Amino acid sequence: MYIAHICSELAPIAKVGGLADVVYGLAKAHAKVGHQVEIILPKYARIDYSFLTELKVDYSDLWSFEGYQRYSNTIWSAKLDSIKIFLIESSHPGHYFDREDIYGYEDDVDRFIYFVRTALEYLFKSIKHPDILHLHDWPTALAPAMYQDMYLPLGMPKCRTILTIHNLEHQGRCSPRTLSKAGLRAEGYLSPDKMQDPYSPITINLLKGGIQYADAVTTVSPTYEKEIQTPEGGCGLDAVMRKASSKLSGILNGIDPDVWDPTTDSHLVKRYETTVISSDEDFQKIARAKQENKRFLQTYFGMEETEAPLVTCITRLVRQKGTALIKECLLRTLELKGQFILLGSSAPPEIEREFIELQRLLATNRHAVIHLNYDEKLAHLLYAGSDLIVIPSLFEPCGLTQIIGLRYGTIPLVRSTGGLVDTVFDIDTSLLPIEQRNGFTFDFPDVSGVHWALDRAINYKQTKPELWQKLMRNAMSADYSWDRAAKEYLQIYEGAPSLRRALLM
Ligand code: ADP
Repeated sequence: MYIAHICSELAPIAKVGGLADVVYGLAKAHAKVGHQVEIILPKYARIDYSFLTELKVDYSDLWSFEGYQRYSNTIWSAKLDSIKIFLIESSHPGHYFDREDIYGYEDDVDRFIYFVRTALEYLFKSIKHPDILHLHDWPTALAPAMYQDMYLPLGMPKCRTILTIHNLEHQGRCSPRTLSKAGLRAEGYLSPDKMQDPYSPITINLLKGGIQYADAVTTVSPTYEKEIQTPEGGCGLDAVMRKASSKLSGILNGIDPDVWDPTTDSHLVKRYETTVISSDEDFQKIARAKQENKRFLQTYFGMEETEAPLVTCITRLVRQKGTALIKECLLRTLELKGQFILLGSSAPPEIEREFIELQRLLATNRHAVIHLNYDEKLAHLLYAGSDLIVIPSLFEPCGLTQIIGLRYGTIPLVRSTGGLVDTVFDIDTSLLPIEQRNGFTFDFPDVSGVHWALDRAINYKQTKPELWQKLMRNAMSADYSWDRAAKEYLQIYEGAPSLRRALLM
């Protein structure tokens, strides 16, 4: 099968969050079993070229359009492992992609509409005939409508369009004029069954358009699939999601074993084998290696070198992630005589100010570190060196940090929402067999929920080593690779209902 992803992020060369990991992991898993996979994304200013080989111009002087203007684009091709990628470089005077960050600009909608138009123009002009066009979130959600109403009539061959919703919160709203600039007459799309925003009849909603037009819609966990069909979790699109439910599937993300494996992880001070834990000696080796990574972190950050539990949180610092509860986790950990390292990025100014203030208050505390940055290496070390990872999200479509934590034997403590429900099972309250329980959960996103879970976790870590060992074994022994999810996506690509849905039918 020939699969083309059009997307705004791709790990490890242009990553903001989980979307980047998912596209990379899924593409690799499909390429591994013999499918032809290509990925098109913008040539951002901060692409990390060190991961790419065979970088060359594939197509020069490709014209793309915005309003009455046309602009020249250069399409670069390169190899990222076995996957072919295409980077769009534009001569647009707005320097749409040649910027410091991937998102966060007032003209984001214009930038990504232009990107989608150019990506489709490229597929069309270079006579590529993918079987599958796979789109991701609002930045590329216009593609199914643009393909169906513009490029299919122009003669582009038939293909299946799949939209994956990684996060329903961001929907890409814009004025009809902005859509018309892309060459689609906006009046034709301002209707309830097309792109009209449910709350503003004169606003175009790109994500809604993607949901309406795509042949299949997926999201990143079974629980999030249910949540987005409710008024509480639907971000205003719950009715649209319910209407689309027959083509909607929730497929739980995996993690890339080439990136997230403590046996081979080059970022670690001490690596450790987690797949074979048949004796106590095997387990002790893991514990010693984790301890070495912890020591390194403590020394690096000038923390006190204690045996106290080390708690971490690795996150974008946005409202969704429960920032007030993250702070509470930090303060409660200190009260319980633990240590805490927060690695936080992408904070909007008002949240960043709060954490800078907390950083200032804790400046001389040798048990807490607040590191406000995006830092891939540090993230890997924290997954390896910590005992607990906290994810007190208000909502969480899938969440990868708890899965990576599990893989590294770092026990997740999570609020029960979205994909966290599907991956973390409380040691005390889960109804699953004890061998499958792997963490701590709480239901309500409030201070008492955090205390209830964190107090238990730190108490067990300090006083019940055998139970903790059991938790770690359970966590590390599960299979988190992409193979299962990749198969489910193939079913969707082929037009069949998802495996899970088929079981329910
Ligand atoms: P989201 O996509 O909402 O940001 P996920 O849990 O799905 O959340 O994915 C987060 C990904 O980004 C993980 O791979 C995590 O390790 C990484 N990450 C998040 N914040 C940081 C950070 N500050 N530094 C390094 N990596 C980060």
